[in-house]
Amino acid sequence: MMVTARTRVLTLLGDPIAHSASPEIQNAAFAEAGVDGVYVAVRCAAEDLSGFMHGLARAGGGGNITLPHKEKAAAVVDVPSDAVRRTGACNTFWGVDGRVHGDNTDVDGFRRAVRIFLDGPITGIRVLVLGAGGAARAALLGLLDEGAGEVLIYNRTAERARAVARRIGGERARVVPVISGLDGEGFDLVVNTTRLGLEPGDPPAIDLARLSRAGAAMDLVYGREKTPFVLGAERLGIRSTDGMEMLVQQAASSFERWWNRPAPIDTMRAAVRGPLGR
Ligand code: NAP
Repeated sequence: MMVTARTRVLTLLGDPIAHSASPEIQNAAFAEAGVDGVYVAVRCAAEDLSGFMHGLARAGGGGNITLPHKEKAAAVVDVPSDAVRRTGACNTFWGVDGRVHGDNTDVDGFRRAVRIFLDGPITGIRVLVLGAGGAARAALLGLLDEGAGEVLIYNRTAERARAVARRIGGERARVVPVISGLDGEGFDLVVNTTRLGLEPGDPPAIDLARLSRAGAAMDLVYGREKTPFVLGAERLGIRSTDGMEMLVQQAASSFERWWNRPAPIDTMRAAVRGPLGR
């Protein structure tokens, strides 16, 4: 599609942004769907975030927000979604009648990815969430909304886990303050939301052998190689997946907010494989 004076501009705002696969995913989707938009990544300082978001939204555009601005973006939007209000983070924005609307499609992306991965009901399952950052908040909200029965949260810094449980958890979330508290516990699903696995040489977030049972293991980290969490699960014969499907699904959910139509998901899956070297 030709870029013209009518083309809608969607941007990824963050810092750093150079390694993001979002431009490849979204531009491939725009071309497949035949929508008149272009997606570009813009390195953005915290003090410029509000100006960019308001200006782009008023011009009919929008975009995504990535690290380290997702929490600040939640405070910038005029019309936050339920997911933005409950997680305190915003990763997708667009304009309607001059007002900035925002959503946190990490929640929807996680829900869709976990449903595909488990290929069965989430209702009533017992889950261990490792980590207590932004990704943990999205995963916890997604799990509770999908009907998980009980979610235990373990994080290196226990106080952060308590804060996440207080904010989102309700009665179905419980914090495990020390890792030995997990010994012999059994779970239907273990989710790694920590950053461990991003850097070469990182250990897995947990030795899954200390649990009495892990029915399935889902990593939110993804990269060119298998993550240490996925490798650890494979060694124990535990079914596992990395964060690639969530990445694709949160992008699809953002596409749907901007264009009000279903995202071409297979095209988006194929587009992410190039940047990830798969
Ligand atoms: P964040 O807010 O910075 O949180 C980082 C988490 O990792 C915290 O729980 C932190 O524990 C823990 N951590 C960091 N270093 C650690 C270490 N050496 N040992 C143990 N725990 C450690 O980051 P985030 O936004 O939640 O993102 C976390 C990961 O999820 C990233 O790798 C990101 O790429 C991934 N993610 C993937 C998707 C997707 O679509 N697949 C979406 C969102 C995020 P403390 O609290 O103790 O520091």
